[in-house]
Amino acid sequence: MNQADLEVLISEKEIQAKVGELAETITRDYAGQDLLVVGILKGAFIFMADLVRHIRLPVTVDFMDMSSYGSSTRSSGEVRILKDLEKPIEGKHVLIVEDIVDTGLTLNYIAELLRNRSPKSVRICALLDKPSRRKVDIVPDYCGFTIPDHFVVGYGLDYNDQYRNFRDICIVPAEA
Ligand code: 5GP
Repeated sequence: MNQADLEVLISEKEIQAKVGELAETITRDYAGQDLLVVGILKGAFIFMADLVRHIRLPVTVDFMDMSSYGSSTRSSGEVRILKDLEKPIEGKHVLIVEDIVDTGLTLNYIAELLRNRSPKSVRICALLDKPSRRKVDIVPDYCGFTIPDHFVVGYGLDYNDQYRNFRDICIVPAEA
């Protein structure tokens, strides 16, 4: 698959404008506070790198890596921790940064896990939201774009670990 063969759902320009807006809101909401930004690997790495550079607060970053037992395009909701946070989060404001909320099972699991570690707060920032496929009641506190039920790649999102480097978010045809 070449990027030129795929339909662009959200252009690089639209993404960049939205990331700036999200960072503005986050900066306002956490004014005067320190923020720990937790990126969920691997899909959030590009979004997170852009987002934190626009946030004007004292920020630290950490990452978690989870594996889902689902197929490459469908989450099963069974989640295993491959990489945990490096430091305790007790008393900290935590912002989880995720590429996309689909069924919501992964984020629900991660948010619960982190809430049990006594942080001051836990909020979720997702670039994309596919609410039509939701299985648990979870709404991101900060959301870039609500999208229909397409499988998308680019800007960090993969299909079989490829296409993360596409600058736009593109739709993978159902037969791919
Ligand atoms: P959930 O647990 O919400 O169903 O799944 C979330 C995870 O599934 C995302 O972090 C992402 O890794 C993967 N995912 C869900 N929808 C898509 C999609 O359209 N494209 C890609 N590349 N990954 C997706």
